[in-house]
Amino acid sequence: MLNISEDIKEVKGDDLQELFGIRTGRLVLHWRDRLLLFRFPEGEKLGLDLRAEVKGYNVFECPNCGEYITLDVEVGGDHPYRAMKSAMASASRALARLERLDQKVQKATGERITFQHVILTFPPALRGLSEEKAWEVFRAFWEGLKSEYTLGEASKLLGMSKEELKEKIDRGEIKAEEKPGKRGTIRRITREEILRFRGFKVPEDEEEDEEHDETKYLRKSFKERGWGAWVNFHTWSSREPWKLLKGERHLHFHVVLAMLGVKDDGSFELPRTGWIDMDALRVAWAWAIEQVTGYRFDWNEDLKHQLDVRPDSYFTLKDKGRAKLLHELKYSTRRWAVDFAMRAIESENVSSRSPGPEFLSCRLTSQENSPDPGTGNVKEGFLDLWRAPNKARAFGWWRCLRGLLGEEIEAKKRCPVCGDVVRYLGKLGWNEVTDFSEIVLVGKKGRVLKLPRAPGWFLDLILGVNNVGVSSYPTSQGSPVLD
Ligand SMILES: [Zn+2]
Repeated sequence: MLNISEDIKEVKGDDLQELFGIRTGRLVLHWRDRLLLFRFPEGEKLGLDLRAEVKGYNVFECPNCGEYITLDVEVGGDHPYRAMKSAMASASRALARLERLDQKVQKATGERITFQHVILTFPPALRGLSEEKAWEVFRAFWEGLKSEYTLGEASKLLGMSKEELKEKIDRGEIKAEEKPGKRGTIRRITREEILRFRGFKVPEDEEEDEEHDETKYLRKSFKERGWGAWVNFHTWSSREPWKLLKGERHLHFHVVLAMLGVKDDGSFELPRTGWIDMDALRVAWAWAIEQVTGYRFDWNEDLKHQLDVRPDSYFTLKDKGRAKLLHELKYSTRRWAVDFAMRAIESENVSSRSPGPEFLSCRLTSQENSPDPGTGNVKEGFLDLWRAPNKARAFGWWRCLRGLLGEEIEAKKRCPVCGDVVRYLGKLGWNEVTDFSEIVLVGKKGRVLKLPRAPGWFLDLILGVNNVGVSSYPTSQGSPVLD
């Protein structure tokens, strides 16, 4: 018999049989399972329902990966585990529909949809921006910005009077395009010309060279391209979620972009190049921020430093892409409370199973650090923050995906490893598990690891529910770190 208090971290899957008198099968753990360790008495005092009970196992069968078991859990309405489950459910629904659409596209064009996850941030000076304004910026970005401006508009954008602008045009410093108007010729300044004057190096306009499609990005928005997207707005940094309690917001959008154009007649159009030029994207995003908020970038200097516009890799729904999309969607849709709880667990105070001092207790009672200093109502402010939904908004054809498919697609349970549709085989109690040979962990970024042994946190959970009568055992520190 193993000495639990000393060797808990060294237990191998097979040893579970010895420990608990059960035989084990293939266990798939998900990083969110670790959320079940979250204890937060202060939150419960405020009225949060954070019950968590691990009942046993659920058994599934995946056509690719075979039979596997996962934890069977019951949690209270405010538990971050529940929030993660619901993010998973909406991601699965979206995936089911996109897979069908992808099949249609393949049938019609022989190609597959390319997806891209883009992160769009705001400069730190705008961290106080309201949610409404932030979405306004995104809409301006999505719908496309004007490609040419009147002299009046251009002078505002350039921060000079109309007279100064006219002089600069006369001296040839700024190029104006002459166009026929109702009463003779009118002058227009293009967006590129304004950018050029403000110090931005506009990509050379290659003639009709389709390979350089991205250089035309400034003139063609995602909307004009007829693309679709799933968009979430986050006000916190996943790395430091507690900072939101201090009013330190970190505003950014997660955009899961489907680079597929759907024309009015329902036909599909795929981009010639399967990628977006990130500099062009950064400019378009900064431009939208300027238009909506009045913020002014120094286009020479700080555009790159002020704006973190990040692409993830491109992928299709082939092979690992399906699981990747599932992951990107649910990652974007997860709520602040999930990141908060996860960081609390990962913090040093994990042994006491409550958020460390940098997290909570002190903050909840301190008015200046409360989420809503204006009202001084710490409790309401905190509960609102905790329960704040993070609903995705759809753009382009993604808004009418159901209509586009012409049928309702049933969302089915997905394999956490490969994303395929799985069959539910039933529940098992702790004592009923059979043939358990492997432990697989699905990490935060959707990465799949085979673990040589059960992680400490999982054993913490098992010991909790099985009540083995161990009063003190080592903490999870030193267990495999989730990425
Ligand atoms: Zn699978």
